[in-house]
This record gives sequence, C-alpha cells and structure tokens, in this order.
Amino acid sequence: MTRSISILGVTGSIGASTIEVVDELRRNGADIAVEAVTAGGNLSVLAEACRRLRPRFAAVADPAGLAAARAALSGLNVEVGAGPAALVEAAARPSDWVMSAIVGAAGLEPTMAAVRRGATVALANKECLVCAGPLFIQAAKAHGATLLPVDSEHNAIFQVLTHPERVERLTLTASGGPFRTASREAMAAATPDQACAHPRWSMGRKISVDSATLMNKGLELIEASYLFGFTEEKIDVLVHPESTIHSLVHYVDGSVLAQMATPDMRIPISYALAWPDRAAVSTARLDLAAMGKLTFEAPDGVRFPALGLCRTALRTGSAATTALSAANEVAVQAFLEGRIRFLDICRIVEEAMAALEAEAGFSAKSPSSFDQVRAVDQAARDAARRIAVNLAAA
Ligand code: NDP
Repeated sequence: MTRSISILGVTGSIGASTIEVVDELRRNGADIAVEAVTAGGNLSVLAEACRRLRPRFAAVADPAGLAAARAALSGLNVEVGAGPAALVEAAARPSDWVMSAIVGAAGLEPTMAAVRRGATVALANKECLVCAGPLFIQAAKAHGATLLPVDSEHNAIFQVLTHPERVERLTLTASGGPFRTASREAMAAATPDQACAHPRWSMGRKISVDSATLMNKGLELIEASYLFGFTEEKIDVLVHPESTIHSLVHYVDGSVLAQMATPDMRIPISYALAWPDRAAVSTARLDLAAMGKLTFEAPDGVRFPALGLCRTALRTGSAATTALSAANEVAVQAFLEGRIRFLDICRIVEEAMAALEAEAGFSAKSPSSFDQVRAVDQAARDAARRIAVNLAAA
C-alpha cells in the first residue's frame, strides 16, 4: 500500500488508534508518508506523534500557541503552524487520505478544507456531519471527495451495503453505555468519571459522555441519515451490550447483513485506510464460541431521552440538527467541568431547542450556506449557556 495521509486530531483517542494502524502497516511494508497532523493543545502528545509519524507540517488550535509548539517540536524537522488557519492549511495540504478526528464542530472547517480539494476523507468526527449534514454531503459530491465512515456503526453499514437501492431499513447497535442498567437516581448523581467509564470502548471524554446519555447514538442516527440517505423512521436503534455486531442492514428479500468484530477502532480505521482493499491488522479475533451468546434489548426512551430529541431534530430539519449538536457540546462541557448534573445535559438540549424554535422556528431556517450553519450553531450555544447558568444557580 502506498498512501500520503494527514491526521486531524492526532492527539486524541482516534488519533492514537490511527498512529497504531499506521505503525503496524509500515512495519508490514506499507509506504505511508504523513503530510500533516493537528492537535488542540496537547504538545507532549503531539511531539510524540511527530516523532513516530515524521509529518511535514503540524498545527495546533490556539493562535497564541505557536512559540510553545515550535519549542515542543524543535529538532523534529516539522514546519509548525497555529490557529484556525493553520488547522485548515493542514487539511488543505496535498495528501491522498485525511483522518477527520477533531472532536466537535471545531472539526468542520478543517474537514471541509479536505473535502474541497476532493480528498478521501475518513470521517470519525460525527459532529461536523450532524452540524452541517446536507451542505457537507453536497460539497463532497461537488468536489469529488470520497467520504469513508470511521464511526464503527457507519463503517459496519458501509462494509455490508452491497445493494443500497434494495435496503429496507438500517439498525444501529448501541452498547447502552455505563448507565444501561442504572436507576434514574443513580444517573442523577453520576460524576464525570463515572459517565466516562465506558464498558466496551476507550474514547475521548466528550463522546464518552455522549455514550452515557445515548446522545451519541442519536447523533449517529442523524449521521447515518445524512451519510446513507435514509429517513429517520427507517433507522432503528438496538441495544447490544457486547458491542460485537456493529450494525445491521435489512434488505427487501428479508436478508440481514451485519458486520461483527471485537470492539477496537483500529478495525474501522484500517478499513478506511486500506479501502477498497483490506489490510492485515493484529486486533483480537472474534471467538463466538467463547462468548456463548449475544444479547439485545430495546433502548429505554424514558431514562435516555436523547434518542427522542435526535429523532425529532432529524424530522424537523438540518437547522434543528445543527442546533442540537451545538447545544449538546455546551451541555457536555458544563457537565465535564462540574457545573451541571448528568441529567441536566438532555434538559439543556431540549430547552435550548425549544427556545430557538420559539424565537424563529427551525423549518424557516434550513441553512443554505455554511455562514447560516455557523449562525444557528452560535444561537444554540448561546441559548444552552444561558440555560446551563440558570441550572447551575438553581
Ligand atoms: P478526543 O477528545 O480523544 O480527541 C479530540 C482531538 O481533537 C484531539 O486531538 C484534540 O486535541 C483535538 N481538539 C480538541 N478541541 C479542538 C479544537 N478546538 N480545535 C482543534 N482540535 C481540537 O476525541 P476522540 O478521538 O474520542 O473523538 C474524535 C472524534 O471522533 C469525535 O468527533 C468523536 O465523536 C469521533 N469518534 C470517536 C470514537 C472513539 O472511539 N474515540 C469512535 C467514533 C467516533 P488535544 O488533545 O491536543 O486537545
């Protein structure tokens, strides 16, 4: 395999798994050159990533962080940039394949820079699709970019989507997160560390909290709808605590195709990197006899209202999904910083959505430009912050 690649969000959990895949494929003879990497502000992890990957260019998010980043990366023969324009430059520089793994809507502009030059984009960041779905998909088509889903559920669907025009429904599986069997009282008292203690996956803190609220599954439902072109009512969610079946595609003849694997992000990442081929990676092999059984249950919409909020937003339109994702980012951050309680997250999202709907209505505001997306995103963040402040003071 010969590839030139860039990794946006190299210091995160997906970034770390991507480095492991690159290391292993290089050891096995693949010729992988790294053009650019980006980080938020974690310079020690960035320096280690640059030592291993030897990129030409590294960018950090904070415009004031240039001198510190240069110092941390000195001697590594890497050009350094800082600030939003440097993140965009990292994505815009020529490479065949770009891993989009910055967390949150902050990933949108850099990912769009890769899309606009027609790159192959391995999409881990789900928020940029939820935030700007239809525009993002249109731009990918217009610029000839290839989108390869990395989120394990969407990667699973992509792997078994043999006849897209003959699909009846999709089923996204969900582990159920750390509070699958918890009482509402226990959830009300949950700490950030408890919410981040995912039973199956080791991930960044934002997506871990999203998994605990099941907002993650709701965001994935929106992501699946925009990526694969299915309406909300054709996408089911099924709780499957073993996280062995990563999603299912139901065909018109009654056949159901599923992708199965141990829960390890190196599998979808390597699939996206080797696509349309497959590459050998030393992940744990599935031993179904040792597992004995796989279990399934319906999601509990009462303890986990996030799924319902996401379904409503998806039916309402793309301004609503933009607002939902932005309000959720603000609420999760407030929870992680100890300012609000766990159950307040969905409350803030719901109240922010209601406030925006009352102010101007979502249907009238389906964004037709990225500027409009940013305006809806900002309005939702402002509303969510106001509600969070009131809840924290109550
Ligand atoms: P992490 O929190 O572990 O990593 C986030 C990355 O984004 C880090 O490199 C971080 O830099 C960078 N970052 C944070 N804020 C900014 C900013 N404002 N500007 C630029 N860069 C920033 O997250 P994950 O790796 O877990 O997740 C990344 C994305 O992939 C998310 O959208 C998530 O939903 C998605 N995803 C993750 C999965 C997983 O298994 N982890 C599975 C499926 C999807 P720094 O560390 O230097 O601050």
